[in-house]
Amino acid sequence: MIQVKNLSKHFGDLVVLKDISVDIKKGEIISIIGPSGTGKSTFLRCLNLLDTPTGGTIHIDGIPLLDKGTSVPKVRRKMGMVFQSFNLYAHLSVIDNLTLGPVKLLGKKRAEADQMAIELLKLVGLAEKAHSFPDELSGGQKQRVAIARCMAMEPEILLFDEPTSALDPTMVSEVLAVIRRLAREGMTMVIVTHEMEFARNLSSRVFYMDEGLIYEEGTPQQIFNHPQKEKTKAFINRIRSFHYRITSRDYDLYAMQADMEAFCDKHTLPRKVTGYVLHMAEEVLCLQQDFSDIRISLSYSEKDGSVELVCAGGGAPRNPLEEGVAEDDIGIKLIKARCRRVDYRYENGKNILMLKISGE
Ligand code: ADP
Ligand code: MG
Repeated sequence: MIQVKNLSKHFGDLVVLKDISVDIKKGEIISIIGPSGTGKSTFLRCLNLLDTPTGGTIHIDGIPLLDKGTSVPKVRRKMGMVFQSFNLYAHLSVIDNLTLGPVKLLGKKRAEADQMAIELLKLVGLAEKAHSFPDELSGGQKQRVAIARCMAMEPEILLFDEPTSALDPTMVSEVLAVIRRLAREGMTMVIVTHEMEFARNLSSRVFYMDEGLIYEEGTPQQIFNHPQKEKTKAFINRIRSFHYRITSRDYDLYAMQADMEAFCDKHTLPRKVTGYVLHMAEEVLCLQQDFSDIRISLSYSEKDGSVELVCAGGGAPRNPLEEGVAEDDIGIKLIKARCRRVDYRYENGKNILMLKISGE
């Protein structure tokens, strides 16, 4: 359905896309992941000609997009794009947002457009908001309207550019649910996202973009569990774990806990486990002697749903797990009682404590 060959895009001297070749079949759901600034948005924008590629070819359903004779508006209509910021018309009601394109551009009769709009609003769960205005809606609702508005143009392909990244965390799931539903109905979709669990569960293929290329591609299983190339591995490791550095005794405990909580939420850990993680981090920090350079990391194991908390702190070698070593004896007893496993080692001048935390 989409065939891209040797696509490149330069902005002046800046080479954003070097050489991208890829085929996307009908019904596929592609997630694009990668660090920011690696050209993910530019790639989407080239696909529907919001940006003009510098070189290469794009075919949509066999139609050469970049040929002079091709009608750009007509081809573009095959693709709907959903942006991070919803881009609804503020002065139009929800239903008018949905019917404007079909009436003006597709020549639909008003009644027909209205009926279709209502069907689509039902699909995204917002039929009762048909006559509301965008500023009466929450961010998640606005984004669902934006998706419905895209669908009203009857596209064959939907492109999403980080559709949930402007949303309050509580509203992410309602938008992802709508995208999931469209996926089930067989829509072809290309989604730039940093919702990794979503990408993993929904996509047929994942593209990891870096260095102006689709640096590595594969099934979610391949990319998330067995990445082959250096940068993909580094990226996946980075997003799978959480790192925090403390450099003084007056560190900001609440900021650290908020970050840890966000990490736990991202992995949809039960509240109970999140609570244990925050508590254990606090206890571990109470055992530290030297606060000049402490590093705490969390990593989540999907296999057994546990969280590994590692704390590396300075000072003389001292195993707090040994009886009578730590001044904070109660702290260490709490840690031992709560964790499934606790290990200590001294390595590269650091006292390293490893805790395995689960819901049990
Ligand atoms: P991503 O979506 O992966 O974060 P983008 O595609 O937005 O990356 O941007 C890739 C690079 O291209 C960035 O360095 C960005 O500054 C640059 N860029 C994007 N759009 C333009 C533009 N219109 N003019 C100049 N540079 C741009
Ligand atoms: Mg982007």
